Amino acid sequence: MASTAAPGSSTDRWSAELRAHGRRVTKQRLAVLDAVEHSPHAVADDVAAAVRTQLPGISLQSVYVILSDLTDTGMIRRFEPPNSPARYETRVNDNHHHAVCTGCGKIEDVDCAVGHSPCLTPSDSHGMSIQIAEVLYRGLCADCAAKG
Ligand SMILES: [Zn+2]
Ligand SMILES: [Zn+2]
Ligand SMILES: [Zn+2]
Repeated sequence: MASTAAPGSSTDRWSAELRAHGRRVTKQRLAVLDAVEHSPHAVADDVAAAVRTQLPGISLQSVYVILSDLTDTGMIRRFEPPNSPARYETRVNDNHHHAVCTGCGKIEDVDCAVGHSPCLTPSDSHGMSIQIAEVLYRGLCADCAAKG
């Protein structure tokens, strides 16, 4: 029963979501979702390395294509911290923000204090209907602060 790494319940959930977004359920897509779910805020290279433990032959390019497609469906959220490649996570649709340590680059999730998007009201919307306010917290983590 426990011969494979991916737990059945998670695979079933991802399969249902893929079908709901009109995507075929492939082992490549499932492996990418599994990898991103288990290491939130991973960069594409790290996702590819994790996927290769299950699918040794998959190319980095294929992983990029799948990440980009799944980001389009909304199943994966992509964000780009300053001075870093894009990061991916499966925590979507909750308008959470990120806190980035300017010392070591560590990234933490921060629940949105308001809980819906946009959580900041622009002083002047210039006639646009504003949908998202991108909030990024930057500072020093406790470890970096302790090092002075
Ligand atoms: Zn730090
Ligand atoms: Zn996050
Ligand atoms: Zn917020």
